[in-house]
Amino acid sequence: MILEKYSFGVGDRFGHQAKAQLQAMLNAKKQGIAITPVWNKSNREHSIIHTVPADVRREADAAVKAMGWSGAYRVDADHISLKNVDAFIEASDFFTLDVADFIGKAADEKEVAVFVRKYKKYAGSLVIPGISEKFDITTTRLETIARKYLMGVFEAGKIYRHIAKAKGEGNFITEVSMDETDQPQTPSEMFFILAAIADEGIPAQTIAPKFTGRFNKGVDYVGDVAQFAKEFEEDLAVIDFAVKEFGLPKNLKLSVHSGSDKFSIYKAINKAIKKFDAGLHLKTAGTTWLEELIGLAMAGGDGLDIAKQVYIKAFGRFDELCGPYATVIDIDRNKLPSPQTVEKWTGEDFAQALRHNQSCKNYNPNFRQLLHVGYKVAVELGRGYIDALEKYEDIVAKNVTENIYARHIKQVFIG
Ligand SMILES: [Zn+2]
Repeated sequence: MILEKYSFGVGDRFGHQAKAQLQAMLNAKKQGIAITPVWNKSNREHSIIHTVPADVRREADAAVKAMGWSGAYRVDADHISLKNVDAFIEASDFFTLDVADFIGKAADEKEVAVFVRKYKKYAGSLVIPGISEKFDITTTRLETIARKYLMGVFEAGKIYRHIAKAKGEGNFITEVSMDETDQPQTPSEMFFILAAIADEGIPAQTIAPKFTGRFNKGVDYVGDVAQFAKEFEEDLAVIDFAVKEFGLPKNLKLSVHSGSDKFSIYKAINKAIKKFDAGLHLKTAGTTWLEELIGLAMAGGDGLDIAKQVYIKAFGRFDELCGPYATVIDIDRNKLPSPQTVEKWTGEDFAQALRHNQSCKNYNPNFRQLLHVGYKVAVELGRGYIDALEKYEDIVAKNVTENIYARHIKQVFIG
């Protein structure tokens, strides 16, 4: 099973927007750009929303049928580990092996020595075609990289073999993710991580490093855009070179996690993938749930009431909701509107504060981030929330499609 050149990870927390999401891919197709939709949901999302991987598969299959989509599509077991992979095996054909927890756990010194012996041929000035700068690689540096990353790659190997045993090799797509860690991986580190991945026999088709800068949930990139652009292009050059050097799958490409809403780096990404004729996987998740709230607010009446209720409850449960996401959100509590203020808002007020339109003076990234992590509140509304989604399906769908197509696909893949 080969992942196509361009793919887009969509998350659908409440399982009602797959058709609207697929419409965005159909819009791209009309522009001559083929993008494979990948429906992803992590174990954490499943447990908060009380869904199972088979629900995602069912929803994807139904949307594809209803919309007459003839292209490929995938279901991603997002950020799985050995502890929780079993529940995903049957329903998924894309597996994101999360090794972040093992980064920095020192591997056996014997393994480190084997790695250094094998790769010290790259020591000295490492020249990677496409990168003007030379990388200064010493054996000490190799040891440091091996100590930091080998355990993670070994763990990915274990998960990969576990899945392969159940599904059969070649019957699924493998991604290795290292994004949920505190330090970014440099292009030269990535080169040796890919060497280790090849040694483990993991046929990775996508790799999700942690890039430089902050990738907060649902808001724009924070960091040095020029530095990001430089490292992103270097990563592409590293991948090309590593594919040849280590015999990794030819379609190996970068995966950008927390990829929604990073408007300030989309131009650089678009330029880089065109320059290198590279593929890309852009993974998003919660951005669709926020469009549901925008759609409900714009619907007015009981739709708007529900949107307000979600915010007011989330406001009162700030610590509980934000705690698990502390490292990937930056909320200034003083800039959150009070429940009394939001109570008085019109649907348009609510939508403007929430919609990610940076040129709108009413856009409030603090409000947006709190709602991003506040989906648990909507879960607790149970049928009431789902009924509203169904009642206002049209306006919600319009916002979901528009967000994915105009604000994401167009900027990243079309340019
Ligand atoms: Zn991730």
